[in-house]
Amino acid sequence: MLYALGRWQNGETQIAFSDASPILTELLRDFGPQRKSYHPEFPFWHLQSDGVWRLDTELSTRPRGSVLKRELIENNSTGSLTSDVLAALDADPTLAGEIAHRVLEGHFPQSLHSDILDRVGLNADLVISRRKKRDPKFRDHVLTAYEYRCAVCGFDLRLGNVTVGLEAAHIKWHQAAGPDTTDNGLALCSIHHKIFDLGVFTLSTEREMVVSDQANGSDGLESVLLRFHGQPIRPAQKPEWLPDARFIEWHRREVFKGSARS
Ligand SMILES: [Zn+2]
Repeated sequence: MLYALGRWQNGETQIAFSDASPILTELLRDFGPQRKSYHPEFPFWHLQSDGVWRLDTELSTRPRGSVLKRELIENNSTGSLTSDVLAALDADPTLAGEIAHRVLEGHFPQSLHSDILDRVGLNADLVISRRKKRDPKFRDHVLTAYEYRCAVCGFDLRLGNVTVGLEAAHIKWHQAAGPDTTDNGLALCSIHHKIFDLGVFTLSTEREMVVSDQANGSDGLESVLLRFHGQPIRPAQKPEWLPDARFIEWHRREVFKGSARS
């Protein structure tokens, strides 16, 4: 849906599967749970059942319930938002931002929103201004639990008395029904928060930092990640505030990319 909106915003209403396929594959790989293989044909096909998308090409070879990637390519399939959706988007200049906001808020942590918008070519200004604030108590409780320091690297910069670049991260995402409880939170600096949500690292059940074998780089890799790999994170002040194993397992299964380095 976000990709279709991005294309619409660029004046393109008819989308060829052959164009969308590599981009949808990247989006699924980078922002979705890790899979053995990725299926761009699923969103391209199944968005039809939401009543907002239609295939312009008739595929008569299979029942409506399933489709093969090969069939979409061989038939030069194209799809588009339905005509009533397109008319509504044209009539109301704020609608695309509203839809994008709801999709992002419903499925992805805020730290990833601007990355996803960039990747689908949607104008971020339209969407970012609509953010609503979360429960401020979660932030206060989590930062207090970790004494206003990043649980990984200890970052605790202040400008005067104001904490800078320190955030309360959900281990199990809010969008996946993760609770706003301290045992589902970690105080992380902005960089560790972002890469935790992207699955560059996760935690072991013993609460050690585990870096993905897919992460690579030079200076940043060593200073931001590898020197903490295998080390226990900074503990919360009270045992009951420590990250709960259920939430860590969810993060390892649904967010972490690649597998653990040795
Ligand atoms: Zn940090």
